[in-house]
Amino acid sequence: MDGVPDLQGLLARQQQAVKRHGTPDLKERQAALDGLARLVRRHQGDLISAVNADFGNRARQETELGELMPLLNGIRHVRRHLKGWMRPRRRVAGLAFQPASARVEYQPLGVVGILSPWNYPLFLTLGPLVDALAAGNRVMIKPSELAPRTGDLLRTLLGSLFPEDRVAVVTGGAEVAAAFSRLSFDHLVFTGSTRVGQAVMQAAADNLTPVTLELGGKSPVLIMPDYPLDKAARTIAMGKFFNAGQTCVAPDYVLVPRDRMENFAQILMRRVEAMYPTISGNPDYTSIITDRHHARLLAMVDEARARVVRHRDAGDTARRLFPPTLLIDPPTDSMAMREEIFGPVLPILPYDRVEDALAFINDRPKPLALYCYSDDSNRVTEVLNGTRSGGVTVNATMLHVGQEDLPFGGVGESGTGAYHGHEGFVRLSHARAVLRMGRFNQSHLVAAPYGRLTGWITRLFIGGAS
Ligand code: NAD
Repeated sequence: MDGVPDLQGLLARQQQAVKRHGTPDLKERQAALDGLARLVRRHQGDLISAVNADFGNRARQETELGELMPLLNGIRHVRRHLKGWMRPRRRVAGLAFQPASARVEYQPLGVVGILSPWNYPLFLTLGPLVDALAAGNRVMIKPSELAPRTGDLLRTLLGSLFPEDRVAVVTGGAEVAAAFSRLSFDHLVFTGSTRVGQAVMQAAADNLTPVTLELGGKSPVLIMPDYPLDKAARTIAMGKFFNAGQTCVAPDYVLVPRDRMENFAQILMRRVEAMYPTISGNPDYTSIITDRHHARLLAMVDEARARVVRHRDAGDTARRLFPPTLLIDPPTDSMAMREEIFGPVLPILPYDRVEDALAFINDRPKPLALYCYSDDSNRVTEVLNGTRSGGVTVNATMLHVGQEDLPFGGVGESGTGAYHGHEGFVRLSHARAVLRMGRFNQSHLVAAPYGRLTGWITRLFIGGAS
């Protein structure tokens, strides 16, 4: 399918197939998931190479740990629980309606659209696909134009596994993406920036298409006064510089007690230099996706008006290898504190009292993730109760995303709706209410002309003034 894809035609074929084939049963869904897992395993080398080529350099282990592992674990989890999730749930029919039975049945929505970003082009494309297939839907996918080799490979591989009226991949630039978001899907899952997410929600509104928006934002790290700095530095460095910071849930800035801030910056950079002794030519260190993104990070550091702690290796601009960079206490109106960073630049900010740190977090849009470091459970509870975010990892970063049994999603400006595991199945299903009246049900007696029986029943259930 070269040139501008016939999106409307494709959608019409999928909608026809929904009508013709009805609801897929458990076996059919399991077969689709098994096929997908086999396909990914069989072609993992090609997938890793495609992602690597799109980035310039993407550490193989990062594609394995950050994409293939959570994807395949997720498929395994869904596969194991799908039968139970598909089972109708008994509910209680109200006393006034007896004899009757009530249940909820989970039906497929129909055709689900998936718009995905470039930063984890496998996991963030195939992850939503897993939930959509588990819920029995047909799926159209538009991967990011900034990871074109991965997008093309996904189109070829998924095309070899599924007929295009079951799963179809369309590729193209922002115009194709915009046209895609205007299609009358039964649900649209968008993962990307908050700005484009707004445009997608507006386009979807014209069709009353419900959306799941997985967006970005500035995910804070709060180091509490009791926590050892060197221990915190290990997992902050890991989460921040994985994929060179191009991760939606990467730590975006760190709040540290004022008297420990300088010390923390030194410890953190030492830790980073131990993880990545060099930047240029280091296969473990991932490139920035495009020259434009690289230039934006340079401008962000230049503009920050902050003391800068740099990695000893200045990186390699030609290969878009941007060195790990710490910004010490940049002003809140700097670009680094206004925009999501999405690269290996980390502001470190001091706070005086924990209440001040919580207020700082709460004065900003609700983040996708929040990281809190403390071994004092009262302190952790205080942070959990005192903030809002899509998800939380306590005493590490990013790891909550890899839990198959936890929902993944944002809140407020960082997103709408969550997926993964059971939440993903429910999100991409229609929970249909089914009430079945018993054979001897007498509900028709409460009808006009209203008489004594109606009065007796309403008095019984409403009660008198008390
Ligand atoms: P982006 O918003 O630029 O692009 C995402 C997708 O939207 C792409 O497929 C693109 O083709 C498409 N698109 C572009 N213009 C469009 C338009 N006008 N209408 C409809 N679709 C359009 O995001 P990106 O640069 O690919 O990814 C980075 C952003 O994504 C960051 O903000 C990051 O935090 C966020 N993100 C969020 C998650 C999450 O799960 N919450 C995961 C990864 C990335």
